Amino acid sequence: MAYAALDYYALSELFTHEERMVQATVRELVQTKIMPGIGKHWSAGTFPHELVPVFGEMGLLGPSLTGYGCAGISPTAYGLICQELERGDSGIRSFCSVQSSLVMYPIWAYGSEAQKQTYLPELAAGRMIGCFGLTEPDFGSNPSGMLTTATRVAGGYSLRGTKRWITNGSVAHVALVWAKLEGKVHGFLVPTKTQGFSARDIHGKWSLRASVTSELVLEDVVVGEDALLPGVSGMKGPLSCLSQARFGICYGAVGAAMACYDEALGYAKDRVQFSRPIAGYQLVQQKLVDMVSEITKAQLLCWRMGRLKEAGTLTPGQISLAKRNNVATARDIARDARDILGANGVTDDYQCGRHMLNLESVYTYEGTHDIHTLVVGQDVTGLAAFE
Ligand SMILES: Cc1cc2nc3c(=O)[nH]c(=O)nc-3n(C[C@H](O)[C@H](O)[C@H](O)COP(=O)(O)OP(=O)(O)OC[C@H]3O[C@@H](n4cnc5c(N)ncnc54)[C@H](O)[C@@H]3O)c2cc1C
Repeated sequence: MAYAALDYYALSELFTHEERMVQATVRELVQTKIMPGIGKHWSAGTFPHELVPVFGEMGLLGPSLTGYGCAGISPTAYGLICQELERGDSGIRSFCSVQSSLVMYPIWAYGSEAQKQTYLPELAAGRMIGCFGLTEPDFGSNPSGMLTTATRVAGGYSLRGTKRWITNGSVAHVALVWAKLEGKVHGFLVPTKTQGFSARDIHGKWSLRASVTSELVLEDVVVGEDALLPGVSGMKGPLSCLSQARFGICYGAVGAAMACYDEALGYAKDRVQFSRPIAGYQLVQQKLVDMVSEITKAQLLCWRMGRLKEAGTLTPGQISLAKRNNVATARDIARDARDILGANGVTDDYQCGRHMLNLESVYTYEGTHDIHTLVVGQDVTGLAAFE
């Protein structure tokens, strides 16, 4: 089906020529290579691996990083890539977010020159896949309580612990594992073939089904001294990566919402009940107009965030506000779109149900909706309400 991307306030006029080109190219990719097969992958619970080298060739992995085979495009262009990919599926965008923001960014920002040379060109080309191991079975919203440890051994470190809910876990060649070394959080680049490392997929998900989610077990995994990310210590390390990823998620959620709106509008114009298409009834129009209104506001937040990021002044609170708003908005829109589609909306012949379920994960990961409330709450009041 053709896709008409909502741009009610002509925001594309505010993007640079390069940003518009990137957006158009990824939109075409999604239309021709992702939409035809994503429904089947989602139903089967499989990730479309064949896309990884395509993403690499197109420069979609680590796109806003510079050097080492990365494209060096603007943060806004990176955001637009996420928006277009998530218009296809949140799981596809998740793959790219993890690779780009949670694995490549920390290597680029905090890695040694040797680590950058070893990993970044391979990750950028899609010849290597990375995962980001922060969450543990008992530590999700409060990752600073993590139990995974690193201890010094001759020539390196020994890692021990369990990480859970790790995107790309079992397909990754390298895992960025966050562990406590002498009580302080550090990042370790662990080749997944290392003895003692194992990854087991989490099955039975009714959300992000076209994405691999795994548990990582590290049983005395010995790595060399060169596995430690030398440029950062403490929670600043993982939190700064999450800021990068959340920026893309803010855009991505808009893409999912735009897909649902487009589907609901098309369906409402075609579907006749009583005397005319349901799009001609006031109650349906109210739902569609609410979608247009919320999507437009979310697009404006993203645009402004992009420009603040380029200026180097974007704050974690501003990212939290947008993640909180845009994902909740997309989740509501997906549900309303499902409603407009009536019974057809509960089948996999249409995409809004898939987006609706995917967005449940997006609402929870990268900081839950409520945790972002607390982040912004602390920002504006100066008082932390986490404990
Ligand atoms: C599909 C998927 C992929 C993921 N990928 C990754 C990944 O690649 N790498 C990774 O490290 N992690 C990943 N995660 C984990 C994700 O980041 C965590 O699920 C998230 O941080 C929430 O942690 P939790 O699930 O343990 O929930 P909890 O922290 O147990 O939260 C449960 C509920 O309690 C609320 N809550 C918690 N603390 C407070 C508080 N102080 N005040 C008020 N309410 C509170 C939360 O808002 C939530 O509603 C992924 C998760 C999913 C579902």
